[in-house]
Amino acid sequence: MTRDQLRGYLTFYRDLGVTEVYRRQPAGQTAAQSASIMETPRLAPLAPPDDTLSKIRADIGDCRRCRLCEQRNKIVFGSGNEQARLVFVGEGPGADEDAQGLPFVGRAGQLLTQMIDNTASKEGIPIRREDVYICNVVKCRPPENRAPQPDEMEICGEFLFRQLVAINPKAICAMGSTAAKALLATKDGVTRLRGNWHKWRDIPVMVTYHPSYLLRPYNQNAKKEAWEDLKKVLHFVYD
Ligand code: URA
Repeated sequence: MTRDQLRGYLTFYRDLGVTEVYRRQPAGQTAAQSASIMETPRLAPLAPPDDTLSKIRADIGDCRRCRLCEQRNKIVFGSGNEQARLVFVGEGPGADEDAQGLPFVGRAGQLLTQMIDNTASKEGIPIRREDVYICNVVKCRPPENRAPQPDEMEICGEFLFRQLVAINPKAICAMGSTAAKALLATKDGVTRLRGNWHKWRDIPVMVTYHPSYLLRPYNQNAKKEAWEDLKKVLHFVYD
């Protein structure tokens, strides 16, 4: 493992809130020797054993852990199949989601529904939106739909990670740069990350464009790419 890879690992675990990185020191080797062949770290648990979505929702309660509580109407926890093989992660609720308490129910949500239903149907995959699980990095609407701030993502990220551990899907689709940042602890943008597989813990992650970005008329090329990404994910999960 190179020094840069090691630094990458440590940043990754620090950003996930993991403070201890485990090393196995083989017999007969000094710590300095074994540091250069550090094994993939054992992952510290992110969730209590036997965690469930209803326990996570109960733990969120009437959350006041960050400033996003001040202007929210409803906490948007997530919706869909709790045993889904595929989870979509967005950024945070918009006005419609904040009013209804459900993720992706506004214009971006309608596009996401169309994308899932139409792509699956065209590809002969018998699923619809209600068969997947959909949630966001932050559960309360950021004022004026601004991007969530790092401390908000960190606080709410704990619940996102617990949701992902509880569902344990075969793959995750991270929509947009906030979801990519939260899951991959990277500064790379969506254009660079999309189309290829990454990992959150042991779960494959596909990064793609956020549906709100695809709604802008000058981003029509990205639509084609997003459809390609989605096809890849659906075949990986359901074939
Ligand atoms: N945008 C998101 O990121 N999430 C939603 O739930 C709605 C819009």
